[in-house]
Amino acid sequence: MELKIDAEVFLFDLDGTVYLGNKPIGDAVETLKKLTEAGKKVFFLTNNSSRDKQEYVKKLTDMGYPALPEQILTSTMATIQYLTTRRKGKSVYPLGTPAFVSEIKAAGIEVKEDADIVLLAFDTTLNYEKLWKANILLEKGREFMATHPDTVCPSDIGDMPDVGALMALLECSCGRAPSVICGKPYSPMAEIIDKTVHVAREKIVMVGDRLYTDILFGINNNYQSLLVLSGETTPEMLASSGIQPTVVLPSINEIIG
Ligand SMILES: [Mg+2]
Repeated sequence: MELKIDAEVFLFDLDGTVYLGNKPIGDAVETLKKLTEAGKKVFFLTNNSSRDKQEYVKKLTDMGYPALPEQILTSTMATIQYLTTRRKGKSVYPLGTPAFVSEIKAAGIEVKEDADIVLLAFDTTLNYEKLWKANILLEKGREFMATHPDTVCPSDIGDMPDVGALMALLECSCGRAPSVICGKPYSPMAEIIDKTVHVAREKIVMVGDRLYTDILFGINNNYQSLLVLSGETTPEMLASSGIQPTVVLPSINEIIG
């Protein structure tokens, strides 16, 4: 099997890279299977903190790729790792889905209204009351953290406002940006990779559709980077960006052959 990139470990972004909404991008499932069968280590590295690991396992398995929980690495995991090591004993007020809140609670993080930290996640159950409560805490000077910086999440029917957009809203109302962001391209996410993947960095490739998260994450960590044009980035955006990947392909399906 001939590959367009010389790597042993493939870190795949999900939204816009493997699928759009519930639809796999072309033969993405077959491509992932072939890479796995060829002995390549495949991981899925998503900033999307609205779902838990098991939901990603189910989604990929339902599409035809039998994913294992240990192949899924999320910004929620990076956030939990950060909170339990650098903010031990601190409580959080999360803006997150029920799946996100139960994941952080299960990790032993105290969740309460008058919390030390406002934690902004991809909250597809967000309402005005939660935003208001968060803003009150931020005005009191509580720490502001976010799971990831993406401004939108692509879907098959149109973009969803994501954490970056909500960060801008709260920054407008409280006058402050988050002091810590955990997902790609930032270092808490890289710590998750360091704990999971034990091969030389030049044998790792980050594959994704977004320059300022996926590709920058690859560059920041001395991995190779592969940009796919199946999601957010257009050839025009790439041409005018200072963030340049190792390889560019139309989709993940051109990695093979
Ligand atoms: Mg993406």
